[in-house]
Formats: sequence, structure tokens, C-alpha cells
Amino acid sequence: MRIKVAINGYGTIGKRVADAVNLQDDMEVVGVTKTKPDFEAKIALKKYPLYAALPERAETFEKAGLKIDGTIEDLLHKADIVVDCSPGKVGAENKALYEKAGVKAIFQGGEKANVAETSFNALANYNKAVGKNFVRVVSCNTTGLARIIAVLKDIYSLKKVRATMIRRVVDPKEDKKGLVNGIMPDPVKLPSHHAEDVKTVIPDVSIVTTAFKVPTTLMHLHSIAIEMDGKVETEDVVSIFEEEPRIMLFSGEDGFTSTAKIIEFAREYRMRYDLFENAVWRESINFHDGELYITQAIHQEAIVVPENIDAIRAMFDLADKQESMKKTNRALGII
Ligand code: NAD
Repeated sequence: MRIKVAINGYGTIGKRVADAVNLQDDMEVVGVTKTKPDFEAKIALKKYPLYAALPERAETFEKAGLKIDGTIEDLLHKADIVVDCSPGKVGAENKALYEKAGVKAIFQGGEKANVAETSFNALANYNKAVGKNFVRVVSCNTTGLARIIAVLKDIYSLKKVRATMIRRVVDPKEDKKGLVNGIMPDPVKLPSHHAEDVKTVIPDVSIVTTAFKVPTTLMHLHSIAIEMDGKVETEDVVSIFEEEPRIMLFSGEDGFTSTAKIIEFAREYRMRYDLFENAVWRESINFHDGELYITQAIHQEAIVVPENIDAIRAMFDLADKQESMKKTNRALGII
């Protein structure tokens, strides 16, 4: 059985999820939507059937010479599931359409948790999404934190996680907004929302987070300190991370001195320089005075992509956690 997947919103996340679905043998893309006939719509049309996300704008595509197969409502009739990749908060507005069409839906991290029956991260809570109709894949920062906490929690007892997020201000394509010269506490009032968001997928963790935006577009950076219950061997943690394909270790000795160098590596390593893995600096992993320290970088445009694929498998109960993650990893070249 191949699951028929629609992508509503072919932007930064949508185009990547579409291409990732296209690489799996148990699902296929039946169509993608765009709101306007811009260059992204033209590229989309070379790969996938194109539909108008907003029915009232359908004729603008025809006028621009782009052949569409209908509107989002037509697309939903052909789909078993829709992956909503519209801008934050718009997904919640789209939900009524999905309910009316009787299709399952995945929402992204820009939506509030209550848009779905469960929030999702494959390593943290795959089984919660099994058989569900509405699932929300948590945001890029939350995915990065959840993976680290989930793999450590399988082995150790964690007393308290403290994480500071140094966030890229916008994605590379954004030319309408940005922070040119400054460091922005985001939010000013502490703690940041990320801790509560992590708890949507790992409820029994004690965690506090702070976040700051800085003028870069490439990646987020996380400085994490975890108060551990007992002694931990740094080398054991290195081995645990080495064994988890969704975490990749980078070393200063190899020249990885910044996120710029990690992205330069990714440009050689992957199509569209997508780094689906947490990029953890090996030397940063250090147990000192009861606390485990970790510094990692997160490629915000890519990290949630494998999670969307696993969420689809869980919702149709196509595979268990290990099997699904293995399949996704193989198809996306996560080794
Ligand atoms: P984006 O702006 O790059 O893409 C959104 C797309 O949706 C655009 O093509 C836009 O035209 C389209 N759209 C607008 N209104 C729509 C509607 N009513 N129906 C359907 N499509 C519509 O945004 P993005 O960065 O891909 O973010 C999408 C979601 O993923 C958000 O919830 C965001 O919070 C989340 N997310 C983003 C990132 C990231 O760093 N970019 C990382 C993780 C999660």
C-alpha cells in the first residue's frame, strides 16, 4: 500500500517534505499547493501536480501560464493525508478543510499544540502518533532538544535540563524581515516557550530554556547543560550519540569552527545542503561537576523533514518506530 500524500504550502518545509516523501517506497506525492504563481510554483510544477492553495486565486495561475490541476479541495479528494506546511497559525485555519474532506493531517511546529491529538518527535514518542488523525511535528529547536534528551533519557536519569538557544533570525530566502545588527532576547520574559514545547513530546523532563535571535540565517545553536543523577563518562555519551543516526558529531580538529563550516560541509554532503541530523560538537560533550555539557547546531530548514515521514508511517501504522526510522534514514541518506 502506498499512502497518497498532499503537501499544502510548498515553502521552506513543504518542498523538502515533498522531496522526502518522493524518496520513500510506501508513500507518494499526489500534489502540492502554492498561493501564487511565483518561481517556487514554476519549479514545483516540474516535479509534482500543482494546485491552488487559495481557491479564489486559482485564475492567477492560469493567467501566468501555469497549468494547475485544481484547488486544495480537489487535491484533498485524491489524498489519504495532507502535510500542512503553511505559515505558523495558518495550519489551524486550514484544519476545517481537512476535517471536511475526511483526510488525516500533519501540522508543523508553528501551530499551537492543541491543533492536533498529539505532538510528535520520532525518537521521543513515535507510538503516541500510531493511528492518530491529527499530529503536530514539533519545531526545529524542539526537535533538536527532544532528540538529545530522548537518547540520553533511555540510558541515564536526568535531573534538570537547561538550554540556551542562539537562533538564526530568519531563513536564507527571507528578504522582508531580519535583524541586521543586534542580539534580541526572544522572548524578553523568561523562560522561553521551548521548554513547554519539549514537554509536549517528553512530559516527564525537568527543563528550562532561554532563547536569543542573532543576525545569521544558516543554523540555530544550542548550549545545553544537563544536571545528571550520578556520574557519567563523557566517552559513553560520545558513543551513544555516535550510534544514533539522527545525531552527527563534528570535531573542531577537523576544522568545524562555526556553523558556517558545518553548512559548507553539508553543501558537499547533501542535496540542497539539508542537514537532517543534530550537529553536535564532539569536544563540547563534557561531564563536569555533576553536569553534562553539549553544544549543537540545528539546520532549521531540514531537521523536521525525517520526522514528518515517520509521522506519516505512525499515523497509518505502517511500521514500528525502529523500522520506520530505519526506512526514513536509508531513503534520506542518514547514516
Ligand atoms: P514558508 O513561508 O517558507 O512556507 C509557507 C508556504 O505556505 C509558502 O509557500 C506560502 O505561500 C504558503 N501559504 C501561505 N498561506 C497559505 C494557506 N492559507 N494555505 C496553504 N499554504 C499557504 O514557511 P516555512 O518556514 O516552510 O514554515 C512552515 C511551517 O513549518 C510553520 O509552521 C513553521 O513554524 C514550521 N517550521 C519552520 C521551520 C523553518 O525554520 N523554516 C522549521 C521547523 C518548522
